[in-house]
Amino acid sequence: MLPVLFTVGEFPVKAYGVSKALAAIVAGLVLARAFRRRGLDGAVALALVLHAMLWGFLRAKLALKLKAAQHATAIVTGLECPWANEAGAFVVNALDPADQEAFLRHLGVCAACRHEVIELTPIAQLLTAAGRSRPGGEHRATNIDQ
Ligand SMILES: [Zn+2]
Repeated sequence: MLPVLFTVGEFPVKAYGVSKALAAIVAGLVLARAFRRRGLDGAVALALVLHAMLWGFLRAKLALKLKAAQHATAIVTGLECPWANEAGAFVVNALDPADQEAFLRHLGVCAACRHEVIELTPIAQLLTAAGRSRPGGEHRATNIDQ
């Protein structure tokens, strides 16, 4: 599935958003039908779901912009990056595959996180070695093996 289906001006319309919008519309129609069966105004149910969807999208966009702004500020001011907490999980390969990939891309643009990964790697290597030397200890592939 294409992540960006089309653009409206500068606004990219993504497949994920379209799927969520379609789900909300169907939920609104189902709820409106249930409202009407109980003698209530179906238009109210549809309006409630559509408002929840629109405000949800708006809130998600604002949260994303805020996180990006915090990240940019962290880089400019030298403060800790908001993603730095992921570095430990990254070096021991404990993030889920999508987060692992996202953090790997993030490392390309964030010196603070690269520094964190470099600092944590020897500790992760010690932990991995300790796990190997333990009787019956299994070796789990980590990023430091690659
Ligand atoms: Zn970072």
